[in-house]
Amino acid sequence: MITKNLANALSDIGFTYADGEKSASAHCYAVYGGYLVSAYEDGGKKKAYFSFRFNENEENAIKRYDMSEQFSAETEEFEVTDYELGEDGLKVVCGGSIATFLKLIDKCVSMLIEHDIKGVEYCSSCGNKFGKRKPKKVTYGCDEHLMCERCAIEALEEYNNAKTESAHKDARVLPGIIGSALFALLGSALFIAMYWWLCPAVMGNGTSDIRYIVCAAGAVVAALAFVGYRLFCKKISAAAYISVSVFSLLFTAAGQYLGSVLLFLKINPSGTVYPCSALSNKAFWLIHLRNTIPADAADQFADQSGVFYKLLAISAMFAAVCAAILLLSLRDKSIARKEPLKVETISVASSGPKEEQEDAE
Ligand SMILES: [Zn+2]
Repeated sequence: MITKNLANALSDIGFTYADGEKSASAHCYAVYGGYLVSAYEDGGKKKAYFSFRFNENEENAIKRYDMSEQFSAETEEFEVTDYELGEDGLKVVCGGSIATFLKLIDKCVSMLIEHDIKGVEYCSSCGNKFGKRKPKKVTYGCDEHLMCERCAIEALEEYNNAKTESAHKDARVLPGIIGSALFALLGSALFIAMYWWLCPAVMGNGTSDIRYIVCAAGAVVAALAFVGYRLFCKKISAAAYISVSVFSLLFTAAGQYLGSVLLFLKINPSGTVYPCSALSNKAFWLIHLRNTIPADAADQFADQSGVFYKLLAISAMFAAVCAAILLLSLRDKSIARKEPLKVETISVASSGPKEEQEDAE
């Protein structure tokens, strides 16, 4: 987005409007000081993007360090709230007025020239010189990139592939759902293993109740459900949110229940170890689900279901919190790249080199 005031100020220094004035990707761009510069506003901040090639090598690492140092020293004056110097360009975010923003653009250009960064004569993707062929202006959202014909076609193909791929991925959520269930099942097994081996070992003397700590395994079940989904399906859709949360809770509850029943074989109020054959008795399975103790005997036996539901609630809470954290961490990334890509041929020969010479003097 861009406001009229900023657009007017920018057009005074040679910028032109790209896109419709009212569209969300409306922005201005120009070949300015020998660089293709895009400018726009986002969330009340002014942003500028300078397209160039900045290959990762030793010499450039020094330049990058040098420029970062220089930037940090100037951020206050130009009200720079953020900047990013990458291999294919520089992005600066300014929280100041239009005048400050324009000064910042000039400052960036002079800094780029000072560090001998290759501008409009070179492709911002492969770094090759354009020569006689006109370069292509490739637009990602509000950022304009200058590329040679070959790189522009590659970028376009890559974009189209990614688009069809993501459409394709939509249809294949089933492996993700199955993966999520299978991994969550492993989490249930962890519950059972802890109840079967760890709890009797620790609780054998009757002094400590480790079952409340075992409840934390609910978080492990949620993490496994999440990993299982991500392994088999990269695309994040409603299916991911539903299956990870449902399986987290379902398999936590299952693990908690089966674990409690099995532990009851080994440790129970009567103090005897029940034989495994007790499991064939339906009543044995119900002990944890409902209070089976008759009212007149209530003072002689502890109600197992009360403890079980308490443990179930704690472990479900662990699972829910862990699943929520993991799923929310995905949101930002899945929204990120949805901008359309456009390719246009532009001429930079007239203004580019001339301005560069002027500035170099
Ligand atoms: Zn190229």
